[in-house]
Amino acid sequence: MKKVSIIVPCYNEQESLPYFWQAITEVADTLYRYTFEFIFVDDGSRDETLSVLRSMAGEDERIRYVSFSRNFGKEAAMFAGLEASRGDFVAIMDADLQDPPSLIPEMLETLEREPYDCVATRRVDRKGEPPIRSFFARQFYKLMHKISKTEIVDGARDFRMMKRKMVDSILSLKEYNRFSKGIFGWVGYRTKWLEYENVARAHGETKWSFWKLLFYSVDGIVAFSTVPLAISSILGIVFCFLSFAALIFVFVRQLIWPDSSAYGWPSAMCILFFISGIQLFSMGILGQYLAKTYLEVKRRPIYIVGETETDLKSMPQKPSTPADKVL
Ligand code: UDP
Ligand code: MG
Repeated sequence: MKKVSIIVPCYNEQESLPYFWQAITEVADTLYRYTFEFIFVDDGSRDETLSVLRSMAGEDERIRYVSFSRNFGKEAAMFAGLEASRGDFVAIMDADLQDPPSLIPEMLETLEREPYDCVATRRVDRKGEPPIRSFFARQFYKLMHKISKTEIVDGARDFRMMKRKMVDSILSLKEYNRFSKGIFGWVGYRTKWLEYENVARAHGETKWSFWKLLFYSVDGIVAFSTVPLAISSILGIVFCFLSFAALIFVFVRQLIWPDSSAYGWPSAMCILFFISGIQLFSMGILGQYLAKTYLEVKRRPIYIVGETETDLKSMPQKPSTPADKVL
């Protein structure tokens, strides 16, 4: 029997988990030709997510979990889930029911019968999202499309199902700065896209603030394009030419109207500020790449595991009672 792994990154999802579990088992139970494993990755949640996972894992042996020692981010959580997975088919889905479990049978059917290695999903709209966030998201995808060779699809969700070989390829990319939307495109393989309308979060709230998303998009740009570096070099060359032209202009003006350069102070200041701005901007771009390289060469682990379901057996029976805590 073929095995399906479902990976669920969870950060403060205590409210969503019971609903998610109910929805996913309803679907999984109809797919009796497959065995399932559910890998929940607790990304250092501050609420009771881990206790919920412990009790869920105690009740159903298909449930496995990996709990991080702190919050490492969704990218790290997805990577940990992929590393832990053993299935022939591996799916990644959010815990908040924004990724409809009802698509799972269709995904499996496609991978079994059609010549695809991956079934991915994209939202056709961004209903229920703040307009400013949608606007910036759209601009980001437009920009990425222009400056990166890797295909990064607008509205693509992380919700997808892949064959084992694609998962192994993704795992062979050991980079520290992970931007999955790019990595999925970079490894290639034949991908079928399913489209669906955005579903509002069922419980709890989004973990992505505007700033978190902005920095995430910078990560994406730095990881999958070197065009910003080229832009700063081109700006440098353009300004060299401009300054050369300015030099000739000042020289000729001085020859024709001696004394006129004494009045040039305000324009000189404007130019000075402008050029300094461009220089700092270019240094900033360089700094971004340098910072990423610095983090990359340190070779730190992508995540640290605090606890997994195998630790559950060696735990005292009632970990929440004060007496056990003392022991
Ligand atoms: N998530 C995570 N670590 C984080 C932030 C989010 O594992 O640091 C998980 C979260 O629990 C959820 C999924 O990633 O299952 C998507 O997060 P969210 O729903 O907040 O994002 P949105 O759907 O608003 O883009
Ligand atoms: Mg969500």
